[in-house]
Amino acid sequence: MAWKPRASQVASYMLCLWRACNDRMRAEGLAGDAEFSLADDDPMFADFGTICHYQLQDGMRCIFPGKPEDFAPTAAERFNGARLFGGDIDRMEAVARTAAETVSRQMPATPDGLPWLSEYPMENELLTGHLDFWSQDDTVGGDLKTTKRLPRDAKIKPAHLVQFTCYKILRPRMQRFFAVYVDSDHGTKLVGPLWVDFNSPGMVFFREQLEGFVRLLVSDLLPQIAYPALGEHCSQMWCPYRRGCHDKIIPPAGPSYDVVQALRPLGRLKLTPL
Ligand code: SF4
Repeated sequence: MAWKPRASQVASYMLCLWRACNDRMRAEGLAGDAEFSLADDDPMFADFGTICHYQLQDGMRCIFPGKPEDFAPTAAERFNGARLFGGDIDRMEAVARTAAETVSRQMPATPDGLPWLSEYPMENELLTGHLDFWSQDDTVGGDLKTTKRLPRDAKIKPAHLVQFTCYKILRPRMQRFFAVYVDSDHGTKLVGPLWVDFNSPGMVFFREQLEGFVRLLVSDLLPQIAYPALGEHCSQMWCPYRRGCHDKIIPPAGPSYDVVQALRPLGRLKLTPL
């Protein structure tokens, strides 16, 4: 089956086409998981985020694409999320409730007065994804981010803007998008809602550029131009291939050199393996 990138992954593909290639090979059955010795993400941040999302969405009576209880966090997600709080499930749930209350006080109203849709899957010929908040008239979307690092300058984080612009590519009628950031330590600090106007000249330009990039990802050109772009982002963006890439490419620990000895003024200056 032809691979389509997930909206939430596209920012990481902008930093490394090799990662996109690997995801594509796995999705299209050209390589199995075992061939990559995948590195596991630590799910505690994502699972805590899932718990906050559900608290907020269910509390606001958002409409899910099924029974709300089917979207409730699982026992495993609660267990993992609690690891952020030393394994204390009660403390984790209290912070999640506080975060949901903090955000709910600042949530924008829907343009049509109807409840937000939540977690509806989206797909077109280029992308897949699902939205935290989606107005029933299809003109406004929104996303909740739980984070240890709130945006300092009250601006949307760049990788998130890529994700939100992918939603615009998925839903062309969408005019505006908001992000709400809440701190994951106490759930009391909020930045947002921060708005994106998809009709501004900058966003019209960026949407066109991003669509071109996504078309490259799903094209035959991708495998011809991809290379492993090693960098800090391998870890910071939780690349699942970092174990293989780093083990195969970065040389193992080797001899070091006694620089102090080399700098002695006697004799010829030369580096000496220890
Ligand atoms: S580990 Fe780094 S270089 Fe390798 S695929 Fe991931 S992001 Fe690219």
